[in-house]
Amino acid sequence: MIDTHAHLQMPEFSDDLPSVLDNAEAAGIEYITVVGFDVDSSKRAIAMSEQSAKLLAAVGIHPHDASTASESAIEELRRLARHPKVVAIGETGFDFYRNLSPPEEQREAFDAHLSLAEELGLPVIIHDRDAHEDSAHILSEHAGRLVGGVMHCFSGDARLAEQALEWGFFVSVAGPLTYPNAGGLRSVVEQIPIERLVLETDAPYLTPQPKRGKRNEPAFVRYVAQELARLKGLSLDDVERITSLNAKQLFGLPMGENGEVVVYPIRDSLYINVTGACTNECTFCTRFKSPYIKGHNLTLKRDPSADDIIGAVGQRRERSYKEVVFCGLGEPFLRLDVIKQVARLLKERGCKVRVNTNGQANLIHGRNVVPELAGLVDSVSVSLNSSTAEKYFDLCRPKFGPWTFSSILEFIRECKKHIPEVSVTALDIDPDELEACSKLAREELGVGFRERHYNEVG
Ligand code: SF4
Repeated sequence: MIDTHAHLQMPEFSDDLPSVLDNAEAAGIEYITVVGFDVDSSKRAIAMSEQSAKLLAAVGIHPHDASTASESAIEELRRLARHPKVVAIGETGFDFYRNLSPPEEQREAFDAHLSLAEELGLPVIIHDRDAHEDSAHILSEHAGRLVGGVMHCFSGDARLAEQALEWGFFVSVAGPLTYPNAGGLRSVVEQIPIERLVLETDAPYLTPQPKRGKRNEPAFVRYVAQELARLKGLSLDDVERITSLNAKQLFGLPMGENGEVVVYPIRDSLYINVTGACTNECTFCTRFKSPYIKGHNLTLKRDPSADDIIGAVGQRRERSYKEVVFCGLGEPFLRLDVIKQVARLLKERGCKVRVNTNGQANLIHGRNVVPELAGLVDSVSVSLNSSTAEKYFDLCRPKFGPWTFSSILEFIRECKKHIPEVSVTALDIDPDELEACSKLAREELGVGFRERHYNEVG
């Protein structure tokens, strides 16, 4: 995990910093960003980052101290920000709750920080308290020129979260997510894709509920991760992996990946990355934007062989998962023979086997392949997304042409004869189409239907 925001340079840590860092290590914290709140604390953040590979630094002047953000102070931040351990400018922003500096001075300081972040190509860490509209206004002016940023300890509404995502920012969640009275915050966070969320403690402040009353420290970020996992219906491992990847993207850190991902767990299922090729070019396809699915980089240099997959599956104790799913960033049935070979072994080992497909297996192989899957595959999920051939052609751009849609419907009817569970999925892009797809699946095809969220992959 990565604690994207802590103030370890504060006096609260002066007596026991080594044991705080030991606790962080034991809790699996890979990096901690020590965030400056004035020039002096920014210098101390850098000095600490020089002492530990785990510590990174951010330099900035908090809105409480905006009155000190003179031209010479900003010039000093410019000099400090060139240090190699500095990964961001901040924290900066507005705090109209306490207004310890006059609003106009907060605005000038905020603007100067944003300009500095633009000039240096660094992301910006935003503090926003009781100032959502003003924050949105000034950030909208700068957003196109910033390399990115994070809304630290997010307390805004759904509208501000949506804007932050439009600017390419991440949204950071801290201890308040765990508080009993934070229902409003939790419902906003539920709407934000996990791919845009990062974790923080804001230590020594905002201690998560299970430790409330004690000084906060980076190891406690685990409680925030646990609450986020609960909210998102993900495992703690999923949240740790995805938010760490997000934080690395935010701060431009090395991704530290090694080797290709042939199998990958999400929640309680184990997925098999069969191929990166596809017979569609769907307008919404995530593979045109990013190779990541729930924090796993699915880029393949070559398609894995059946032996590669069997070896990778074996290392994961496949029976401990609810199901094993042939999926990946492409169309699995392009590798029909591999699926049959691996599925046979998985069935012998007592696993439940699912294939997520675009339903074009019969077009790909020029024959009805469904009977060959009987006894090997327990469940087939067909991504349909459209209720007519015309709409399918426009949305999914299949290489087999306009008649692809009718072949998919035929494939689904065949699956009903040979596969125990068959369902159709559609994205919630257009409510009318969603309704039409649901009707087509349930009433005409007699199979299950599942709605998928446009922004939610994996
Ligand atoms: S069928 Fe799936 S993998 Fe293929 S282009 Fe469409 S969304 Fe992407």
